Amino acid sequence: MGLLSKAAVLDGIEGKFVIEEYEVPDPKAGEFILRTEYAGVCGTDVHMYYGHLNTVEYPIVMGHEFCGIIERLGQGVTEDSNGRAVKEGDRVVVVPGVSCGQCYYCKILKIPTRCSNMKAYGFVPNKEPHLLSGGFSQYVHMKYPNTSFFKTDLEPHIAVLTEPLSICVYGFQKAGGVRFGSTVVVQGTGAIGLGAIAFAKRSGAAKVIAVGGPQRRLELAKRLGADVLINIEEVRDPNERKRLVKSETKGNRGPDMVVECTGFPAAVPEGLSYLRDGGKYVELGHFTDVGPTQVNPHWHILRNHADIHGVWGSDVEHMEMTLSMIERMELPYDLLVTHKLPLNRIEEAILGMSKKEYRLDGEEQVIKVAIDPWMELS
Ligand SMILES: [Zn+2]
Ligand SMILES: [Zn+2]
Repeated sequence: MGLLSKAAVLDGIEGKFVIEEYEVPDPKAGEFILRTEYAGVCGTDVHMYYGHLNTVEYPIVMGHEFCGIIERLGQGVTEDSNGRAVKEGDRVVVVPGVSCGQCYYCKILKIPTRCSNMKAYGFVPNKEPHLLSGGFSQYVHMKYPNTSFFKTDLEPHIAVLTEPLSICVYGFQKAGGVRFGSTVVVQGTGAIGLGAIAFAKRSGAAKVIAVGGPQRRLELAKRLGADVLINIEEVRDPNERKRLVKSETKGNRGPDMVVECTGFPAAVPEGLSYLRDGGKYVELGHFTDVGPTQVNPHWHILRNHADIHGVWGSDVEHMEMTLSMIERMELPYDLLVTHKLPLNRIEEAILGMSKKEYRLDGEEQVIKVAIDPWMELS
């Protein structure tokens, strides 16, 4: 009898997570079997649960932010995407998206995150040939040709942050980087916002201003590099927030860059109004459609010569850059994982992330939940 893998199968929109057991296949040439250590619950998983992502088919095993130990290597898999030799027993971080390399976006435009034939672990229906393709499972079958992964010595509860934090890296890169010595505002202090704060500082920002809340998250923002904290629960008027932000910049000009990580549409015109003329706006908060907002094209875009950027997901390159940075462990990234839960508590994690009043294990607010599929079901 071979290995068996428990997996949490979401049976439909706002459905149940059913714990099923599957036989783990032998990896074919070019494939491998990963023993999952942690799989992060992402805001995107929350939206998939509520049916907000129209490309998703149910039932599904979600989980695209995961790391684990190579359990069995198929023939020919000898090195990771950095060219480092790998063997069974090594810890790796997986890049969930696998682009085809052949379509118009991959080959001509070289934007693999927009690949027309994208396969992504954690986003495919739970049926043949995609069984064991999501991180909310004890084993994941790494089977899509050209799957990228990186060996790491990071502890798994930190390695699991590589994918979410890589979004920030891609955003900065697309905006042409953080200007050395500049002032950067980050709107939002969830996992992505905190990552943006950490990486803005590491990229050479002289001053990072966090606009978010509640207080506990702002304190975390400070530990990750924020110099100025503006608590939206205390400063409730957007105009007052704008005045405070501008007063923190030389000549009241406004920041050089604003990074939106809140997921609230109204944050966008507010953030655009902070910018100095010619400043950069990086939108990382709306990976799902939560509705429109009013932007005044004259004042928000043309009059201030705004330089606006959006990214969709991240690519292998950004995962590699992110991992190299967090492997230095210069900041307490581990504070981002506030909860570790077993497979049968994913629904609670989703409630904790989507309902403001929901208290997961009595905690004030969830930042990142890491699912440990080996933790005893409770
Ligand atoms: Zn994610
Ligand atoms: Zn492609």
